[in-house]
Amino acid sequence: MLTLHPDDVLLACRADDWRGALDAAAETLQRGGLVTAGYRDGLHTREAQSSTFLGNAIAIPHGTAESREHVKATGVRVLQFPEGVDWHDGNRVHVLVTIAAQNDEHLDILRQLTHVLDRDDVAERLAAADSRAEIAGLLSKAAVEARLDADTLCLGFPARDASELALAAAARLRQAGCVESAFVAAVANQAPRALGQGLWLVTGEQGVITPALALATSASPLTAGDSPLTGVFCLAAQGDAHRGLLERLVTLLESGEGHALAGADAATVMARLAGESATALTRRVRVLNAHGLHARPAKQLVQAARAQGVAIRVRLAEGSGQAVSATSLTKVINLGARRGQLLQFSLDGNDIPAGEAERALEAVCRAVTEGLGEAVAPFDESREHHLPEPEVVIEPLPEDAPQAAVAASPGLAIAPAFVLRTPRFAYPERAADPAAENRRLDAALREGADQLEALVGQARGGEVAQILSMHEEMLTDPELHQAAREGIAEGASAEAAWWHAIETAAHAQEMLADRLLAERAADLRDVGRRVLGILCRVELPEPPDAPYILVADDLGPSDVARLDTARVRGLLTARGGATAHSAILARALGIPAAVGAGERVLRLENDTPLILDGDRGRYTVAPSDERLAAAEQRLADQRRREAEAWEARFAEAHTRDGHRVEVAANLGNAAHALDAVERGAEGIGLLRTEFIFMAHASAPDLETQIAEYREAIDALDGRPLVARTLDVGGDKPLPYWPVPKEDNPFLGLRGIRLALTRPEVLETQLRALLMASRSRPLRIMLPMVKDVGEFRAVRTLFDRLLDEIPEAERATDVQLGVMIEVPSAALLAPSLAAEVDFFSVGTNDLTQYALAIDRGHPDLSAQSDGLHPAVLRLIEMTVAAAHAQGKWVGVCGELASDATAVPVLVGLGVDELSVSARQVPLVKARLAEFDLAEARAQATLALAQPTAEAVRDALEVR
Ligand code: PEP
Ligand code: MG
Repeated sequence: MLTLHPDDVLLACRADDWRGALDAAAETLQRGGLVTAGYRDGLHTREAQSSTFLGNAIAIPHGTAESREHVKATGVRVLQFPEGVDWHDGNRVHVLVTIAAQNDEHLDILRQLTHVLDRDDVAERLAAADSRAEIAGLLSKAAVEARLDADTLCLGFPARDASELALAAAARLRQAGCVESAFVAAVANQAPRALGQGLWLVTGEQGVITPALALATSASPLTAGDSPLTGVFCLAAQGDAHRGLLERLVTLLESGEGHALAGADAATVMARLAGESATALTRRVRVLNAHGLHARPAKQLVQAARAQGVAIRVRLAEGSGQAVSATSLTKVINLGARRGQLLQFSLDGNDIPAGEAERALEAVCRAVTEGLGEAVAPFDESREHHLPEPEVVIEPLPEDAPQAAVAASPGLAIAPAFVLRTPRFAYPERAADPAAENRRLDAALREGADQLEALVGQARGGEVAQILSMHEEMLTDPELHQAAREGIAEGASAEAAWWHAIETAAHAQEMLADRLLAERAADLRDVGRRVLGILCRVELPEPPDAPYILVADDLGPSDVARLDTARVRGLLTARGGATAHSAILARALGIPAAVGAGERVLRLENDTPLILDGDRGRYTVAPSDERLAAAEQRLADQRRREAEAWEARFAEAHTRDGHRVEVAANLGNAAHALDAVERGAEGIGLLRTEFIFMAHASAPDLETQIAEYREAIDALDGRPLVARTLDVGGDKPLPYWPVPKEDNPFLGLRGIRLALTRPEVLETQLRALLMASRSRPLRIMLPMVKDVGEFRAVRTLFDRLLDEIPEAERATDVQLGVMIEVPSAALLAPSLAAEVDFFSVGTNDLTQYALAIDRGHPDLSAQSDGLHPAVLRLIEMTVAAAHAQGKWVGVCGELASDATAVPVLVGLGVDELSVSARQVPLVKARLAEFDLAEARAQATLALAQPTAEAVRDALEVR
């Protein structure tokens, strides 16, 4: 969402006329890097269509839809003209709020500004303001509104008294994520107060996450003492966010309509609390304008409403929004109605004859349907009801012949197949009773949330838990709920409405948002299927009790997290790549996996015997007895090796002839450092600090970060910590740090490039790392560095911090290095090595950029092999440059735990290998299997090969 910030305000501007003011606005946007020069014409063209004057000396110039191609990044700039500018429509303007918007973000700004228009002295104050903060303050949005929607209602609850209703309402607030358990406990100790007309109230401030109002009504008529008891409101108070809602509640009571809530459904409760009287005539209509009710169509709507000469009110059909006068421009804009949303117009039926009221409502609805002065396209109501069936190639798999797939998680598995076929969800499109459908949806959402909660608990932290928590959050998304309820209100079944809401949201993410967010579409569908399965009572086929290899089309992260690791011996999927979410999770769980095997694996019969080789990415269907015996022997050897490796895990890592190579662990969660040490890690070679940032709803402050890093450092007990600074962008979005839409996010603002755009965030992180370490060894590395320029920018900041923080309060054994992930950094390693303290090669990205293959590409990532000779040559150059300057080199990409690659990396001179904690004992054991001379010979052999396949073949033969 766009917000106004003091830095975006330009004081004391001057312009000869409004055209000059528009030019100044365009120039400011361009200087800020938000638009290219062509946007200026867009501003003028838009202004020629109709004035962007909003009221109270404010105009909001913005480009036309066509000029959006000139927008580089969404943003807003405010220009103050203390002397004022005569606008072409006769008004006088003191402030231009000019917007560069790629989508409909300007509606957010508009909504923020509308409240300013109601205040009397704002124009003078804006003209006279002499600080940017004052202007930003004057223009900023008022306090948040308390939440009240279908999810905070608990209607028809089988309670026996007011206290039980109060508790039901409080529990509903907790389920909706608005309050914590402390709030529910506080409400339990409170006697509800009578409001009159059968309504009662409890309030609490403790444990409030989001201010909200819940209502629980009773299933049967009750009394409390002599008074009737219809329902209990439960208010989660925070600041004065609830004022508007309580005022509406009081209005409802003043109008004597409180009794009408007895037995009312959600739509009626919302209507009464929105200020619509029980006798009101109502009519709904859908907004068709591509960009919603922005200023121009809103103006037309207001004119159409005024023309009726009667008091028409309007609100959004869903949510708790108050019904406002349809003749007030600011209030209509403030609805923030977007395309596809339903407006509910109402007219108090007592005021005028019914025929006249009908005609007035008809006229405004027609105006909306006709587009309010804009060309509009019908809203596409087509709904997708069934998940596509996988296309199956009917080509039988040969028996007893190893088949190629992509190695995704190491290990060997021998077990019968269990094929997980995507279930079909069959359901009726329409349903007659919206209230019942809403209840079914509520119940399914609750069950889905409970399932996820249980899975998060079972996952006990780590990446699995993080992904599942994100799913939990998605499930509570009010917009998703609103969209589904809208569908239900229009007669759709809960299933149809829910799946349509999911598909629309997923599609919108794929189409509109940047690619980072687009990847969340898969997670949305995963969450959507969970709820759909509950609604349709489709249970996933029950896996056998005995061990099995799970064969599936692709596994969503929650499918992998749900796996019973005691029985699943391996994973074989038709789709997916080695760096897909599910593959990373399989590695984290230690389950051998081969992915991208093609759709024919889905034709396998359950119980078909399988051998799966996760190291080589092979699988064999119905193996012969000889092959089976050989595989069983290998498996037994592997288990023995694992047991021996586990026994020897605390030994110092070195090759057979004593050449020292440190083996450290990669972590995404500081809390797992102790576990890594217990697995024999000699340090943390890569702390992916972005996961720590992702676990917080906003950027963690200095103290929070110090506490997180200190947890890892304490657990390491003197072993080194290599922490990577925030690496977001590319495949790692950070919700509160949105990256502008980019055609190639992997080639865009990510890693250190992005961090340098917000030096204050980077500074806080560096400060926290330095302060968390004190006397313990700390190595900080920068991701995605392309040359020494970026390193120098951070070094300056870093050196300043070293000067600023007293030595007793910060790390003293500290090094600053860079990751080698971009080929240019490897090619320029000599110039970097002269200035950095160390290198750590991120082979995942280095391979991606050297081979120009997207690391997550479902079809190509099989070819994205870090043992490619081109990648190996880049590593060779990096090590040579570093050692020439006496600097050390680590490898922290997935290649470091590849058993075939380990001797090659050691032969190339790598000093440290950082691998997933689970792999630490095995990598240590692998090192002890060869000596340095052999490793060098393997490196030479590998470097001489023309392709990655040739490298693997050559090394396998030895
Ligand atoms: C890499 O690119 O190899 C790396 C270790 O970083 P990440 O996988 O987190 O991008
Ligand atoms: Mg990387």
